[in-house]
Amino acid sequence: MGLNKVMNNDIIEKIVKTAHHIYDKDMILGKAGNISILDDSGKFIYITASGTDFKSLSYNDIIKVNINDLSYVSRCDKVPSMETSLHIGVYKNRDDVKSVVHVHSPYATAFAFSNKRLRQLEGFGEITGEYIAEVDYYPPGSKKLAKYASEALKNEDKVLLKDHGLITVGMDIDEATLLCEYVEGIAKTQYITHMLNL
Ligand SMILES: [Zn+2]
Repeated sequence: MGLNKVMNNDIIEKIVKTAHHIYDKDMILGKAGNISILDDSGKFIYITASGTDFKSLSYNDIIKVNINDLSYVSRCDKVPSMETSLHIGVYKNRDDVKSVVHVHSPYATAFAFSNKRLRQLEGFGEITGEYIAEVDYYPPGSKKLAKYASEALKNEDKVLLKDHGLITVGMDIDEATLLCEYVEGIAKTQYITHMLNL
């Protein structure tokens, strides 16, 4: 099985729209962050290229990657996101997940950098614990981050990466994106509540 070079433009369009939405919602800083979708065959993901700016991200910045041998089709001179192995690890661990979104949204990321835990609030799905799950710090793009974050996402749909950012998964890209907005929203509420109580 070689790499089917045909690109699915519907999937690419969803990722581009979502990247722009995430930029508009101030959930990304600089060129950080990455988004992927698993295609219907389950053999390929579409993922944002490394070093892309979500504000100006376009069709050519989405790369198709074979999840088994990491070979890829790129319409640009860039390579797949440095977190590609993390995304693939999640898809290999979860049959129900079709999209992964990683952002550095300011409030959730502030909690990830602080010694305060981010409490789960009512309002979005099942509450799986008192606090949003966290993964210890490992360098971005490292094998250890890919391993430990994809393991944490076996049982969770949203995980804070210590001293780094936020990653969410969903049955589609809209669900994963909404979860990012939800976590960022509760982080903001919790931050303001904390300030009011000082
Ligand atoms: Zn990151």
